[in-house]
Amino acid sequence: MMTDLYTRFVANVLFPLQEKVKHHDTVRVRREMESSQWWSRERIDALQLERLKRLLRDAGSHVPYYRELFAGLGFNPEGVRSVEDLQGLPFLTKAIIREHSDEMRADDAVGLARMNTGGSSGEPLIFFIGTERVTHDVAAKWRATRWWDVDIGDREVVVWGSPIELGTQDKVRMLRDRIMRTELLSAFEMSDARVDEFIARIRAARPKMLFGYPSAISHIAARAEKHDVRVDDLGVKVVFVTSERLYDHQRETIERVFGCPVANGYGGRDAGFIAHQCPAGSMHITAEDIVVEIVDPEGRVLPAGESGEIVVTHLASRGYPFIRYRTGDIGVISDVPCACGRGLPVLSEIQGRSTDFVVAMDGTVLHGLSLIYILRDIPAVKAFKVIQESVEHTRVQIVAGADFSSQDEDQIVGGLRRRLGAAVRVDVDRVERIPAERSGKFRYIVSHVGSGAHGHQERGCAAADR
Ligand SMILES: [Zn+2]
Repeated sequence: MMTDLYTRFVANVLFPLQEKVKHHDTVRVRREMESSQWWSRERIDALQLERLKRLLRDAGSHVPYYRELFAGLGFNPEGVRSVEDLQGLPFLTKAIIREHSDEMRADDAVGLARMNTGGSSGEPLIFFIGTERVTHDVAAKWRATRWWDVDIGDREVVVWGSPIELGTQDKVRMLRDRIMRTELLSAFEMSDARVDEFIARIRAARPKMLFGYPSAISHIAARAEKHDVRVDDLGVKVVFVTSERLYDHQRETIERVFGCPVANGYGGRDAGFIAHQCPAGSMHITAEDIVVEIVDPEGRVLPAGESGEIVVTHLASRGYPFIRYRTGDIGVISDVPCACGRGLPVLSEIQGRSTDFVVAMDGTVLHGLSLIYILRDIPAVKAFKVIQESVEHTRVQIVAGADFSSQDEDQIVGGLRRRLGAAVRVDVDRVERIPAERSGKFRYIVSHVGSGAHGHQERGCAAADR
């Protein structure tokens, strides 16, 4: 009873108030989105087109970079008749943003906030977002949260990057989080002792929802299961995961151990809140705010059902427009409507960032899973990470059990060579533990081949922005 009252208080009073103080019209936008999600596809498309025209008009008249670009191309925003007309514009890349950072700002923009992506590749991207975009991204995240019969304000445990790296703004956020009943566990410190402590804290908190990296949460779940510590009796209703590719085995582990569904979210600080899973299982695109195009390596737009790079246009980004922004992630748009009845289009597959792929010596691009399966099949390998340094050289870090044998090592080397090429040098390094990336995330596969165009970077919930 108390819980429900508190939840209603936070969801209906505290959170809207906080957003209002920040001049965000989040509540209104969320309500509109909760209505428009049930519209027909045609009506959603019409809204999207109208908002796209407004964005392009504003960009053409207020943003120096786009004013010049449109003039050079003879592109007239007034002539836009369909979303396909976007194809008359070039892609926006991180390199362009770096080069034209100042000219990307609208001349009438106020209150732009400076953002950067962590950039585990070592090259962070600095860009700006206006309050309109923050409002829309938070509202989209809020809407998706409520699809799962939980609400902002419900008790939550978050497994995320290291608090050591948090700045002043984050400390304010942590204070808010405490009021909002969110507990933060550092995904950066995943030693056995820390994970045992996390399990105890989750048990004590009895959260309604968990939020974090799939790798970190499935790791916690696997350890709880191994030590027969129950976490399926706490009343956790849903586990929200984001920012990494969600593997099937991770989903299965989390759902089994916590006894609740996993809901996948896809987006980034830079790209926005792109898509979120509904209880019927589809990844619904936030189509009111985001135009998603799927393009092939030559930049041609692909039809539904075909796999290519995900390119986004954020319709609430007028202060610092993101138009045809290349995410570096690979995905497929579906043209099959979802059983839940929402008219929002569906991303049928997000095959992960391009760095989840490795390149064989003969040039074949393989999904990282093809290597992951080799290692997962060896019981004596407790944890692993594959680093493709070059086409000729791949390193494998493993945490080996006591029963790890030279045959196991031969199996790893042989298996990788079968997929990558017989002449590839494969080094197997035994380590005490696999350190997380600087961002606190775990990655099974890191490839330094063929990923130079995009780099890899954090892709998480822009809205939650934790
Ligand atoms: Zn659905």
